[in-house]
Amino acid sequence: MGFLKNLFGGKEKPYVDKHGVYFYVQCDNCGAKVKMRADKQHDLNREDGGFVWHKTIVDNRCFRPMPTVVHLDGRHQVTHAEIEGGRYLTEAEYLAAE
Ligand SMILES: [Zn+2]
Repeated sequence: MGFLKNLFGGKEKPYVDKHGVYFYVQCDNCGAKVKMRADKQHDLNREDGGFVWHKTIVDNRCFRPMPTVVHLDGRHQVTHAEIEGGRYLTEAEYLAAE
């Protein structure tokens, strides 16, 4: 059994989410932070050589909807983001203690 484990154990790669784009949002009303995942294939719509993401984000504290539209370039980098009722955070801001 140890032989098989050694044979296959070294080939495992760390999980990388190639299909997901992550967004971090904070609710203006209650301050709750929300991490959102958009699937590149299913959630993003092609537009002008890039992508656009339409979503209504709801946090799990006050449940107030935060409609958002995010524009991304062809490499899934955010070029412009609009949101009502909240604001976008960087990953570092999201991970920081409240
Ligand atoms: Zn809220």
